[in-house]
Amino acid sequence: MDDKIKKTDQEWQKQLSPEQFQVARKAGTERAFTGKYWNTKDKGVYACVCCGQPLFSSDTKFDSGTGWPSFYQPLEEGAVATETDNSYGMVRTEARCAKCDAHLGHVFEDGPDPTGLRFCMNSASLDLKPTEKK
Ligand SMILES: [Zn+2]
Repeated sequence: MDDKIKKTDQEWQKQLSPEQFQVARKAGTERAFTGKYWNTKDKGVYACVCCGQPLFSSDTKFDSGTGWPSFYQPLEEGAVATETDNSYGMVRTEARCAKCDAHLGHVFEDGPDPTGLRFCMNSASLDLKPTEKK
């Protein structure tokens, strides 16, 4: 299976804001409580800002108190890829978009039921597609 989206930095830069590029393509982290979605309670699906792949449902978003949008599970198994990140002298689990490798944030094991996981994401890597109101 290799239907991944691959683009050069230049191509991504054209498509993304400087902050989105820094976070999603360069594994940056936005400052807590500054992102667009840390306190958002709107219903919808959070998609990858780079490729539009649906990543998280607002139904699994919870208030973690961290200042970053936090979810206890991805929308679908396989939508979010995880790998060990040893940067900054810490061992953490990095979360990436499975389709385009965008850096999303990190996964911690102190989340709520039912998964016990906390997907600590950057708003800059996400694009909320609101549920249409009827
Ligand atoms: Zn993506």
